[in-house]
Amino acid sequence: MSASEAELLAEVPDGLLIGGSWRPAGTGARFAVHDPATGARIKQIADADVADGRAALDAACDAFPAWAATPPRARAEILRRAFELVRERAEDIALLMTIEMGKPLAEARGEVAYGGEFLRWFSEEASRVTGRYGNTPENSGRMIITKHPVGPCYLITPWNFPLAMATRKIAPALAAGCTVVIKPSELTPLTTLFLAEILREAELPAGVVNVVTTTSAGPVSAAIITDPRLRKLSFTGSTPVGKLLLAQAADNVLRTSMELGGNAPFLVFDDADLDRAVDGAMAAKFRNVGQACTAANRFIVHRDVVDEFTRRVTDRVRTFTMGRGTEDGVTIGPLIDDRAVRKADDLVGDAVHRGATLHIGGTAVAGPGSFFPATVLGDVPAQSRILHEEIFGPVLAIVPFHDEDEALRIANATEYGLVSYVYTENLARAQRMIERLETGMTGLNVGVVSNAAAPFGGWKHSGLGREGGIEGIEEYLQTKYTMTPDPFG
Ligand code: NAP
Repeated sequence: MSASEAELLAEVPDGLLIGGSWRPAGTGARFAVHDPATGARIKQIADADVADGRAALDAACDAFPAWAATPPRARAEILRRAFELVRERAEDIALLMTIEMGKPLAEARGEVAYGGEFLRWFSEEASRVTGRYGNTPENSGRMIITKHPVGPCYLITPWNFPLAMATRKIAPALAAGCTVVIKPSELTPLTTLFLAEILREAELPAGVVNVVTTTSAGPVSAAIITDPRLRKLSFTGSTPVGKLLLAQAADNVLRTSMELGGNAPFLVFDDADLDRAVDGAMAAKFRNVGQACTAANRFIVHRDVVDEFTRRVTDRVRTFTMGRGTEDGVTIGPLIDDRAVRKADDLVGDAVHRGATLHIGGTAVAGPGSFFPATVLGDVPAQSRILHEEIFGPVLAIVPFHDEDEALRIANATEYGLVSYVYTENLARAQRMIERLETGMTGLNVGVVSNAAAPFGGWKHSGLGREGGIEGIEEYLQTKYTMTPDPFG
């Protein structure tokens, strides 16, 4: 670790943020955070237990009335200041993410830009929350429809986008007038701790954002989710954990937002612009070393162009450089941990065993660090596990198709429905795909769909609710309808 990295890590708070101040866990327990590129321990931080979680919720509940009553413009200005501070500290935040999560520095910079945008976007949305006033159809009275913050929220984020997943939840919650407890993944908690300090610098009042870091995600979360004072749960993570939390939330009839797993199809038709499709494939597959819910999982390519597409993507992969994300020129960083490497290895092994062709990569790299090379598999048989499970690694799996109906049938044959990608130059075909693909988002001739101004979210088992866009703030608002007499009656 370089001296500048050590200096940056020393600046990251190591406590729990509760009621505006940093404090150790009640038991004094701590846990270690590791660099996935080297396996080295990089920092020890507080390990919250159930009592700490409750204390964080106490703080969020205490702060709620004043924050909800704070003028939207004042809330907006704090978010805007936080956006400016994220921009000022962009290099440090990017480096911190690369150290704790592994993504190449250039991608980490991209995430800072994307993640920061949620602070700016929702600072702008804060003052735009409106209601309605209207007549009843019978002239019997007047209806007043108003919007109110839902109340204290619990936010759970995954490790793959440590900044953006936090800002995508915190910013709309705060803009709407809600207070929060946020629990980042134990694998990448440092970016959230750094962001929380930035929010304090932006003069966010005490208790509006509380942070608990813990190795006991299950018990700490269950205590918060089943507490009757909580009014909203927003979760980003895997579908199995999401289902478990939905069941827990049912007892408390919580508002929930669920951003869950994906199994994105990437369709390339014979009329596609192949240069564009290959560029899009690189972004949709290898961004974040394939560890994105939006990562293309299945490349469904027309048989007339499949050989050419395969050759081109394999040639591109040959130019990749694997290594620690801080090093110049690295395009493939480590996976998050050894379990992720074993999963990629198993999925590739299963596909090859069933008859897939291995064009490049395919063998896990011995440690230190958790590395798996960029891999291309062709002619992947339909029953292969890799087509049905979320890969979460840099493996590009190709399946040929004959006609549009077959492509669509393969694409929709999954319980997931987050995003799809379509490459075609035929407008009518593109429109048919948009209408028939069972996903909450579609990239039409583009390989990245994420944008703070867009409603991000999935259909089917990929989730409930939307983050970003004008829809994002609605998730943190509840509606009240008031009936009044006809003023002329
Ligand atoms: P995960 O294992 O489900 O964990 C997500 C978060 O939930 C982490 O903070 C984790 O804490 C916590 N958690 C785990 N078990 C829990 C429990 N029993 N109760 C409460 N919290 C619990 O998912 P992941 O491996 O971190 O993230 C990858 C998954 O997230 C993929 O499936 C990906 O598709 C999905 N994802 C979806 C989106 C989207 O917008 N749709 C975006 C990004 C990622 P610990 O890590 O500390 O255990």
